[in-house]
Amino acid sequence: MGETMSKRLKLHLGGEAEMEERAFANPFPDYEAATGALLAAGAAEETGCVRPPATTDEPGLPFHQDGKIIHNLIRRIQTKIKDLLQQMEEGLKTADPHDCSAYTGWTGIALLYLQLYRVTCDQTYLLRSLDYVKRTLRNLNGRRVTFLCGDAGPLAVGAVIYHKLRSDCESQECITKLLQLQRAVVCQESDLPDELLYGRAGYLYALLYLNTEIGPGTVCESAIKEVVNAIIESGKTLSREERKTERCPLLYQWHRKQYVGAAHGMAGIYYMLMQPAAKVDQETLTEMVKPSIDYVRHKKFRSGNYPSSLSNETDRLVHWCHGAPGVIHMLMQAYKVFKEEKYLKEAMECSDVIWQRGLLRKGYGICHGTAGNGYSFLSLYRLTQDKKYLYRACKAWLALFTFSPMSWDQRRHGFQHLNLTLRRGIKRLTTSVNRTHPDPILPDLLDPLMGFAGSPAAQPAGGMLSSTS
Ligand SMILES: [Zn+2]
Repeated sequence: MGETMSKRLKLHLGGEAEMEERAFANPFPDYEAATGALLAAGAAEETGCVRPPATTDEPGLPFHQDGKIIHNLIRRIQTKIKDLLQQMEEGLKTADPHDCSAYTGWTGIALLYLQLYRVTCDQTYLLRSLDYVKRTLRNLNGRRVTFLCGDAGPLAVGAVIYHKLRSDCESQECITKLLQLQRAVVCQESDLPDELLYGRAGYLYALLYLNTEIGPGTVCESAIKEVVNAIIESGKTLSREERKTERCPLLYQWHRKQYVGAAHGMAGIYYMLMQPAAKVDQETLTEMVKPSIDYVRHKKFRSGNYPSSLSNETDRLVHWCHGAPGVIHMLMQAYKVFKEEKYLKEAMECSDVIWQRGLLRKGYGICHGTAGNGYSFLSLYRLTQDKKYLYRACKAWLALFTFSPMSWDQRRHGFQHLNLTLRRGIKRLTTSVNRTHPDPILPDLLDPLMGFAGSPAAQPAGGMLSSTS
């Protein structure tokens, strides 16, 4: 028994050490404790007792009762954005000139400035965005097809920038080139995967991005349908081969592994198929997508986190690419589409895991950094309007600067150039959260500032997926 106990203890301690290695222990009290402490402090003040000391560097809540972010935090965010842009420009002088991707390269920089233009309406950001995207458009390499890692990224972002500058001819040229990739994408004989980072879902993302940013019909419905069908056919084929048609009618793999997460796995693919703008018919959603989602749901760890692949039993990674921070977006979308409470409940459980284990040591990035994990709080706040999640997002923002590595080199992992967006997401909240028809800040898997427009019937209550334009 002694031996069993010590083994168990060793396992337990090993798990804690592992967590310590991957993430910072979250020093912030959670929302309930923070509001409870404030109430107690208020009562103590009234009765003349001494006020207890604040537990973090932000005494009190970071927002007012109506959800508006407090002035002090807004000022800090604005100052940080300015500082980090300077640092980034400095770092770019020695950046890889050949990396044109949105994921780690120049298109990511263009996208960042495009987002800054969106938030501030300052034309100089748009022109800077144009400079960066022009550079990538001269260097398309034809190797990959997705928004994040392939030519579809520069082409889609270029089309949007030119459209905003009213250079319709150049914009159309980008769209035409993007659609020329389609033939390779839909070919079932090719070894193209279906996942978001390198596969068909990542190409579909670019098509939906254009229709959201430029307007419905920019990419015709039949082109979208063709890509969607290719993804569905591919999922059915693997499911048949693996004899899982009953349990998981749409099964996907990447490099022979059935990944679960947002980047390489089923969560990212199902999320894309559930987008109203992808126009997947109701029967396919109910008969194929839903049971597949439920199959993945049953692989959940007891902690509430998700495995990186169906065969992996180690509860280790809490990243957007692998684990709860990516799967949560699938669950939220499933809740919007199927209107079943279980999806929302499990999304909230994901949020709890991310709160406990999501302040990552890997740095700022979206893919496997604290910013990507912070997005999930913003998204869940957007969906539920529960201030607990706004509180968690604000604290994740503070954690970015309290704990994360600061040097440019240390921040090179994963969506390095998009990591400002969590901060901008919060800033945007300050201006939009109380409108009757709030802007779609958060619903998207990759970028909380962008929501895919969809048919009114498929929209959740409150119109959170209304068009950005
Ligand atoms: Zn990652």
